[in-house]
Amino acid sequence: MAAGRRIIKIDIGQKLSSIFNDFKEKELMSKHTTLCLGGPADYFIEVKNDEELILLLKIINEYEIPFYIIGSGSNLLFCDEGFKGIIIKLVDEFEKVEVIDTTLVCGAGSNLTSVVKQSVEHSLSGLEHFIAIPGTVGGAVCGNAGLKDIWIDSVIDTIEIFSYQGKKKILVKKEMDFEYRNSNLKNCIITKVKFVLKKADKNGILNTVSQEIEKRKYSQPLGTKNAGCIFKNPQSSAAGSLIDSLGLKNYSIGNIQISDVHANFFINKGFGSSNDMLLLINFVKEKIKDKFNIELKTEIKIIK
Ligand SMILES: Cc1cc2nc3c(=O)[nH]c(=O)nc-3n(C[C@H](O)[C@H](O)[C@H](O)COP(=O)(O)OP(=O)(O)OC[C@H]3O[C@@H](n4cnc5c(N)ncnc54)[C@H](O)[C@@H]3O)c2cc1C
Repeated sequence: MAAGRRIIKIDIGQKLSSIFNDFKEKELMSKHTTLCLGGPADYFIEVKNDEELILLLKIINEYEIPFYIIGSGSNLLFCDEGFKGIIIKLVDEFEKVEVIDTTLVCGAGSNLTSVVKQSVEHSLSGLEHFIAIPGTVGGAVCGNAGLKDIWIDSVIDTIEIFSYQGKKKILVKKEMDFEYRNSNLKNCIITKVKFVLKKADKNGILNTVSQEIEKRKYSQPLGTKNAGCIFKNPQSSAAGSLIDSLGLKNYSIGNIQISDVHANFFINKGFGSSNDMLLLINFVKEKIKDKFNIELKTEIKIIK
C-alpha cells in the first residue's frame, strides 16, 4: 500500500472533506500509534461503513492516491516525515460484534480485548489466550497475532474483505494462508471476521484470561510507549534472549531505549523520533548478525 507513493498533485483535500465527516489533514501518526511516533499523514479518514469504504476506494483509484489502512497502530512505525497519502481507519459499523450461537462475527475495527471479553461472557472458548494483545481484530488477523504456539488463525472461520478496487468478497479458511505473524491477506481490506468457538466452562476460560494478564505484568514493560516485539523470533531462539545476551537491555539511541524488562521491546521514553528507532533497530540487527550470524526480521511494520 505504501509502496510507489507519489506526490498528490490535485487538491484532493477539498474533495475528501466534502464527502467524509471524519476527515483530517496533516494528522500526526504519533497520535495513532502505541509507540507515539510518526509525522503527519496528508489525510486521515475514519470510514464508518461499506458504502463509505467503496466511495473512498473509488476516489483513491481515480486519483491514484497512496493509502494505508491502520487498526490501533500497535504494530506500526511511521517515519518522522509522515505519510504522503491517505490513512484509513475503520470505525462505527466496523466496530460491531455479534454473537451467534458459538460464533462471533466481528467488524475488523473492533477491539480484540473487548471481543475476547464478549466471548468469555458467553462461555465461549478459543480466544481467551489473546486477551492482552492490543489492537483490532483486523490487525490481529492480518498479522496472525498470537502467542508462541497459539495464533488467531486457529479460530477463524470466514473473512469478509474488500479488494483495493472496492469489490467485496467472502474468503473461506482454505483460501487463506497463515504462518507465524504473517498471512496472505495483504492486498485487501479486511472488514469482518467470523470466529468459530466452543462452549466451555466459564471458570476455566476466566482462569486462562487471568493467567495471560498476570504473565505480562512481569514479562513486559507495561505502561510504556512501545509496539510489542520489534523482531520476529528466529527459528531456534527468542529474539529478546539474543538481544539480552549481548547486554543490550537499557541501551538507547536518543530517547528510544531497549526495555530492561524485555529486550525485544523498544521504548519511546517520551520525545523519541522514528529515526532513532530505525537506527536502534539496525544497530541491534547488525550486532545479532555479527555475533550469531542470524538475520533478525522486524515484526513491526515500518511504513516509509
Ligand atoms: C504491549 C504490546 C503487546 C503486544 N503483544 C503481542 C502478542 O502477544 N502477540 C502478537 O501477535 N502481537 C502483539 N503485539 C503487537 C500488536 O498488538 C498486534 O500485532 C496487533 O494484532 C496489531 O493490531 P492493530 O489493530 O494495532 O494493527 P496495526 O498495528 O494498526 O496494523 C498492523 C498491520 O495490520 C494491517 N491492518 C490493520 N487493520 C487491517 C484491516 N482491517 N485490513 C487489512 N489490514 C489491516 C495494517 O495495515 C498493518 O500492516 C503487542 C503490541 C503491544 C503494544
